[in-house]
Amino acid sequence: MGNHAEVTNLGVIIVGSGPAGVAAAESFREHDSTAPVRILTADADLPYARPPLSKEFLRGATDDVALHPAQWFDDRDIEITRSATVDRLDVGERAVYAGGQRHGYDTLILACGAAPVAPPMPGAQRARLLRSLADAAALRDKAHTATSAVVIGSGFIGCEAAASLAMRGVPVTLVAPEPLPQEKRLGTAAAERLRDLVNDTGARHVGGVSVQEITEAGVRLDNGVTIDSDLVLAATGVEPQSRIAAEAGLSLDGSRIIVGSDMGASTPGVYAAGDVALAYHEVAGRRVAIEHWQDATDQGAIAGTCAAGSQTKWVGVPGFWTSIGEATLKYHAWGGGYERSRFIDHGDGFTVWYESGDATVGVLTYNADADYDLGERLIAEQRPCPMPME
Ligand SMILES: Cc1cc2nc3c(=O)[nH]c(=O)nc-3n(C[C@H](O)[C@H](O)[C@H](O)COP(=O)(O)OP(=O)(O)OC[C@H]3O[C@@H](n4cnc5c(N)ncnc54)[C@H](O)[C@@H]3O)c2cc1C
Repeated sequence: MGNHAEVTNLGVIIVGSGPAGVAAAESFREHDSTAPVRILTADADLPYARPPLSKEFLRGATDDVALHPAQWFDDRDIEITRSATVDRLDVGERAVYAGGQRHGYDTLILACGAAPVAPPMPGAQRARLLRSLADAAALRDKAHTATSAVVIGSGFIGCEAAASLAMRGVPVTLVAPEPLPQEKRLGTAAAERLRDLVNDTGARHVGGVSVQEITEAGVRLDNGVTIDSDLVLAATGVEPQSRIAAEAGLSLDGSRIIVGSDMGASTPGVYAAGDVALAYHEVAGRRVAIEHWQDATDQGAIAGTCAAGSQTKWVGVPGFWTSIGEATLKYHAWGGGYERSRFIDHGDGFTVWYESGDATVGVLTYNADADYDLGERLIAEQRPCPMPME
């Protein structure tokens, strides 16, 4: 179509080089040794791990975040084109368009992930965002010279980044409208522990405040206080990158691409996986939204397998790990809330059990791996929690 240069050899095209895209390429190749496998990614870097970007990388404890050396892709005959943003998709023609080039495909896997959203407030453009390795490198550079930092948002990335900046010796304040981090999702007792873990790193958590404006001098809060700051990070949530899918007419729920438990989208030959997808979960019996590394990897592997003509379905219990300073918390849950919870203090750690009806629907652990493993089984088998609820 039009003046686009043609790049044809068909096979599978994967849009995105996050965990879903890379796992999709790997599993497709495992199931089909001959068809071309091409990844087109907006990212300028070879695929890397995102979880360390707010943790060890930001702290300065590691530079090594590569997922695989370049040779790994060559060995598998996976072609990866970087700095290639797909701006249009035509599912009728089976083609994507990137940088003035048309790429035809037999099957397509959309693994475009999500992008951070800047807060809608005056001066929002002064806030840094954290998603890519380039974002993290720029943030870390700035942290070398920053005299004081404000992190907006007490989700996991906000808590992790505040802790990492504090551990670098930067005075840092974590501000959020919620009184305690993740209170709604995890309950008050767990949220208090989370706040304590953040504060233990030397960061200062200030809940129950909203940022009204980001100025050159710092951050102005709705309680009249201004915090001086020359480094502001907004960790205020993400938006799935589904524009090209929506414009191509794929079925979406909000901004997520609706897929089955095989990651197949509403149009034949098109799959989606990871943060951009809303996949049907066979055990939960409903669609489950995830924003976790391992689940994106699992979904990518399923998409690659099914795109290559084999069959598999999403059955794993969603979950993630998070590290606030040296403390690692582990969580498994369907993500649909809970009716009752029970917090168990182990002295050097804790477990929180979450139940709905008579089935375990979540478990959060700190220094309690046996409970984490048990919780995963109970959630998968929809069995009750191992102790009475409060
Ligand atoms: C700082 C940070 C820390 C995190 N820590 C944890 C953690 O501890 N545990 C955990 O479970 N999860 C964590 N996460 C979340 C986790 O990284 C995501 O859930 C995961 O990366 C989602 O994978 P994905 O493959 O779906 O998308 P992404 O990893 O977002 O990858 C999407 C890819 O698509 C590309 N892309 C997007 N649009 C286009 C386009 N139009 N054309 C071409 N390419 C495109 C992007 O450049 C990117 O390469 C963290 C995230 C961040 C940012």
